[in-house]
Amino acid sequence: MRLTFIGATHEVTGSCFYLEAAGKKFLVDCGMEQGPDQYENQELPVSMADIDFVLLTHAHIDHSGNLPLAYAKGFRGNIYATDATCDLCEIMLRDSAHIQMFEAEWRNRKGRRSGKEEFVPAYTLEDANGVIKQFVSCPYSRILTLEDGIRVRYNDAGHLLGSSSIEVWIEEEGEERKLVFSGDIGNLDQPLIKDPTYLTEADYVIMESTYGDRDHEVRTDYITQLVEILERTFARGGNVVVPSFAVGRTQEMLYFLRKIKADGLVKGYPGFEVFVDSPLAVQATNIFKEHYHDCYDQEAMDLIMKGINPISFPGLKLAITSDESRDINFDERPKVILSASGMCDAGRIKHHLKHNLWRPESTILFVGYQAIGTLGRALVEGAAEVKLFGEEVQVQAEITRLPGISGHADRAGLMRWAASFQKKPRKVFVVHGDDKVCEIFAKKLADELQYDTMAPFSGTVYDLLADQAVKETVGIPIRKAQIGGQTVKAGGVYARLIAAGQRLMAVIRHNEGGTNKDLARFADQINSLCDKWDR
Ligand SMILES: [Zn+2]
Ligand SMILES: [Zn+2]
Repeated sequence: MRLTFIGATHEVTGSCFYLEAAGKKFLVDCGMEQGPDQYENQELPVSMADIDFVLLTHAHIDHSGNLPLAYAKGFRGNIYATDATCDLCEIMLRDSAHIQMFEAEWRNRKGRRSGKEEFVPAYTLEDANGVIKQFVSCPYSRILTLEDGIRVRYNDAGHLLGSSSIEVWIEEEGEERKLVFSGDIGNLDQPLIKDPTYLTEADYVIMESTYGDRDHEVRTDYITQLVEILERTFARGGNVVVPSFAVGRTQEMLYFLRKIKADGLVKGYPGFEVFVDSPLAVQATNIFKEHYHDCYDQEAMDLIMKGINPISFPGLKLAITSDESRDINFDERPKVILSASGMCDAGRIKHHLKHNLWRPESTILFVGYQAIGTLGRALVEGAAEVKLFGEEVQVQAEITRLPGISGHADRAGLMRWAASFQKKPRKVFVVHGDDKVCEIFAKKLADELQYDTMAPFSGTVYDLLADQAVKETVGIPIRKAQIGGQTVKAGGVYARLIAAGQRLMAVIRHNEGGTNKDLARFADQINSLCDKWDR
């Protein structure tokens, strides 16, 4: 019974854990690494075709985004996830495939001009469509027997529609171990979705630590703040542009805007229009509407019982086609535009920024975290000029943000979640946090709750029956890989080639002492391979 850490180790993205237990090989999450990346993720020790199934905590791409890649590599097993996660993955994995293909096309267009080699997308729409068929929906809160000796229960994690913490019971050699994978743990009192479930029993906990070193800013009353922003922008004759993640944050904003409109809080412009300009956001909004029964909290259910859709209202316009998107900017009446992506780096939001950034009467309202290096971050930090579509654009619009909005529990929330275990777990593995944050939070759990903790790096293997590490690794910083004592730059597929080279050296060492005939044959084969590629 072994647990191997693959991704989201000393990093926030690329969540992936590999288990060999009860005669099966399976993954918990199969996420894509996103944004600046610090350490190399170790390759899975088995081929994807040999993976029996995947347990998926939630639909965010940093947890689900490599599933189409798994399909491309031959994975054909079931993917167990909650109902809402299955539905969200259907649209999000297709969208992710589009992004991969679009980026490859763009790079190749540029690359062809400079004679670069063809860039192959990580996966295609066919891969996404293929893997979508492998999803099996699981209800919340019920213990399900998946295989002999493997039972699971999905609990609402309060982080995103359909998000879960997964309890896994494994029986092997007459002994049982219970694992809890926290998934991403939600914030309290989020619109629409429930609060996180507090679990009380586990032998091993694999816990996220995104905000393990800090607390959220004090929450202000979002409705009052939003009303003020809308009133002063509309009075200037401008638009409020909200760069917002298509899935989750957009629906939260609709929830606030519905209430503002229903209560007539914006004086002088009661009938203002709200545009959701993102095909993905429109699809996601429909999925939210379908999952009220299994996912909404009491407050949202109370509205549903009164016949009110909590994320819809008169004056809401959904733009799907690019013509509809373009028309938004021809309409001069003040309005709200919600558009993806949340950090402004892609999608239709860039067009809306182009049309509004230079206008002192408009407002750009940020409602989430802006990562370093993104256009959104530059704007929040007060850039006077930014580049859009190769053009310099003056920033004259009001730039503001709603503080404290987050889908993640903060330090206090994580501690509350961790403290809910009645008996101390054998071990708490701290993952899904920045390099130092994993360490800081692991220490906090040890100091304050006297937990035995570990912040593993990718490649660490833990024996769950013996309760000890079989292999402990240190992080290999990305873009640097050792080959023949030399440090070379590596990234993506090239890193894979270097790993293959390292394997070759290991195989050569294993053959030391072999017969002369075998060694000569091996050497000849390596030389002919080198002749083929050394061009
Ligand atoms: Zn997430
Ligand atoms: Zn995550």
